Amino acid sequence: MKGIQGKTALVTGGASGIGRATALRFGEEGANVVVSDVQVDAGNQVVSEIENDGGEAVFIQADVSKESDVARLVDETVNTYGGLDFAHNNAGIEGEVGSIAEMDLEDFQRVIDINLTGVFLSMKYEIPRLLDRGGGAIVNTASVAGMTGAPNLSHYYAAKHGVIGLTRSAALEVATDNIRVNAVLPGVIETPMVERFTAGNEEAKAALLKDEPIGRLGKPEEIASAVVYLCSDDASFVTGHPMVVDGGYVVP
Ligand code: NAD
Repeated sequence: MKGIQGKTALVTGGASGIGRATALRFGEEGANVVVSDVQVDAGNQVVSEIENDGGEAVFIQADVSKESDVARLVDETVNTYGGLDFAHNNAGIEGEVGSIAEMDLEDFQRVIDINLTGVFLSMKYEIPRLLDRGGGAIVNTASVAGMTGAPNLSHYYAAKHGVIGLTRSAALEVATDNIRVNAVLPGVIETPMVERFTAGNEEAKAALLKDEPIGRLGKPEEIASAVVYLCSDDASFVTGHPMVVDGGYVVP
């Protein structure tokens, strides 16, 4: 894709699933890749995969819900590669299942801290570095859960609605600075998150599949394609956009 080669891309939640696929794809496209996650071994494994494929990457451990971690992550990225051009703010958790009446505030807050505040903190420290560079692109991972509601996962759905609002607001704040900010809204994608969610529950798996008009779940690589496209020069007039990649799961 145009305009990716030789640039620097930061991927949070890069050790697994969608983030891993995006990190690998940025590596294939010739970017310097910063893989960040709370999981050290799995993150280093992704770096090795990129390097074995002839690419350039480093792992930096950071918890996106901690401001000092995010500040250090962005600083270390710039110190390592001289600047930052693209960010995929993707780290997320599914949270405990439960109705609003039964949910502990702690569980609710934890999902908001990682899935929503983590995106805010990431952009807070990334945007000044993109400005230093004269431009760049950010893609935040929201979800089709940001367009709908569902029982027993209110924290997750609320956080993903919030990510879309943050994305649209950020896009307008930096629209004249040559920085584009978009969101990707995956449908149900075959990742460890979905495996955990449906663990040992064939009925739950069948229900997810039934909601996918295309007849299968998505692959992490299919989200990575959208993320790298949104960062590329091919998407130069696309900003503030919540891009649904869901096999028709939510037909607006
Ligand atoms: P995953 O569990 O495979 O990957 C998530 C990664 O985020 C893990 O490596 C995990 O260690 C990391 N992470 C968790 N908390 C973190 C923190 N505090 N700081 C830094 N890293 C942290 O799951 P996935 O399915 O690849 O999910 C990636 C993103 O995609 C999430 O934001 C998720 O909500 C979103 N999403 C997933 C699906 C799906 O069907 N898989 C659908 C829509 C949206």
